[in-house]
Amino acid sequence: MGKVAVGAAVVVAAAVCAAAALVVRHRMRSSGQSAKALAILRELEEKCGAPVGRLRQVADAMTVEMHAGLASEGGSKLKMLISYVDNLPTGNERGWFYALDLGGTNFRVLRVQLGGKDKRVVKQEFDEVSIPPHLMVATSHELFDFVAEALAKFVSSEGEDFHLPPGRQRELGFTFSFPVRQLSIASGTLIKWTKGFSIEDAVKLNPFAVSPQVGEDVVGELTKALERVGLDMRVSALVNDTIGTLAGGRYYNPDVIAAVILGTGTNAAYVERAHAIPKWHGLLPKSGEMVINTEWGNFRASHLPLTEYDQALDVESLNPGEQIFEKIISGMYLGEIVRRVLCRMAEEAAFFGDTVPPKLKIPFVLRTPHMSAMHHDTSSDLKVVGTKLKDILEISNTSLKTRKVVVEVCDIVATRGARLSAAGILGILKKLGRDTVKEGDNQRSVIALDGGLFEHYTKFRECMESTLKELLGDASDCIVIEHSNDGSGIGAALLAASHSQYLEVEES
Ligand code: ADP
Ligand code: MG
Repeated sequence: MGKVAVGAAVVVAAAVCAAAALVVRHRMRSSGQSAKALAILRELEEKCGAPVGRLRQVADAMTVEMHAGLASEGGSKLKMLISYVDNLPTGNERGWFYALDLGGTNFRVLRVQLGGKDKRVVKQEFDEVSIPPHLMVATSHELFDFVAEALAKFVSSEGEDFHLPPGRQRELGFTFSFPVRQLSIASGTLIKWTKGFSIEDAVKLNPFAVSPQVGEDVVGELTKALERVGLDMRVSALVNDTIGTLAGGRYYNPDVIAAVILGTGTNAAYVERAHAIPKWHGLLPKSGEMVINTEWGNFRASHLPLTEYDQALDVESLNPGEQIFEKIISGMYLGEIVRRVLCRMAEEAAFFGDTVPPKLKIPFVLRTPHMSAMHHDTSSDLKVVGTKLKDILEISNTSLKTRKVVVEVCDIVATRGARLSAAGILGILKKLGRDTVKEGDNQRSVIALDGGLFEHYTKFRECMESTLKELLGDASDCIVIEHSNDGSGIGAALLAASHSQYLEVEES
């Protein structure tokens, strides 16, 4: 070999060695990185862990808080609001009734004809109206005018078959899904807004985040607006979606004793024995029962498995320190928690490459339906996960290993939420003494569930149901979870019927 050739060979060999060293270093770094990502994952799993023992502590704490909230005003984080619903529908209701559903992601008007025990709901018509953006930041006067006009338009579409007995007003059940301090079955004032996370997004999601104002008399405002548009209609019941769901469930099934909403937010309502409500200063209702709106989204307890991600989410939220249970369970937040975990993996473990994908840093870009779609991906190469990461976060060319980790993050976050929801339900059953089997008593207890999270997030729902079974043991045969599909819309109309101003006239 000549000198030149030798020199060339040395250069080549050196280059090969250098390249090999680079590859090795890269591999070492990336294996260090993936070890770091896995460490973050395992830490998440540990912190989110909700074994049965811990769930029982959560359920016990829920029961204790329920007692405290019933004992005195402000006695607990659980408001335990008296709904004044002491007459749940039985199925015997008859006639035409209206309902208005405000406060979720949409605004609906509804008209039903009730035909009594055998015929039940003879006819049902509804209309959905979206709120024009300029009204989203308007005064409640303008907002309720818009609502009243939409109602008047809907009323004008009454068919030939619609009639009211002479001299009667149309009656309306009003579903308003924010915490309201109820003054009677048909009046109440707004306590505070929930479900918000940034003014802009809150407005997008929920027009009522801005108006009406806290403290305002909700029914009074609506009634004035109805008068302004010349509509002869009376608000006979003011409820929220949870109580509407309870009424809708009870109408078809007398064993329904509670309702839980798992949607954008979460809440629960249940039927309490009126004498078990120390803070009740009114006359004991004839039925002996009173529906309590727990506002359980605001529950918190030292036993809740919370992580650094939850803490950061809470601190940066519009309502820090509040709605802690809701922030780890409900549809508004689950996707956001996943985003925060992935973001930390990207920052500390270069999980998606050398730079942190800019989109991943945007709060709430990853919504719970996206998370759910990734979690349910059954394709062998996790194609859906790949597509979602690309479309929503602009992260392309992810490895199968990376995608598997993403699915695991979704699983951990959803599982925690589902198991805690089950613990909350156990808390209510305990409060009612229905969590155990009693000798010679096989009384069934049905819980009506509704909300987009429960309805569409199959793995969440299945996990919640199996966890409740696990917690109840033998008693689980007597406890039934029932999907009350959109019970809340019709529920308000049913409550207008069961609290009709003409009821006593009819009874006498
Ligand atoms: P709201 O709670 O606003 O009245 P819904 O009960 O319809 O409305 O619930 C909507 C919420 O349900 C959404 O904010 C979302 O978090 C959740 N959701 C809707 N679709 C899905 C889905 N496919 N997978 C998981 N969650 C979903
Ligand atoms: Mg809703």
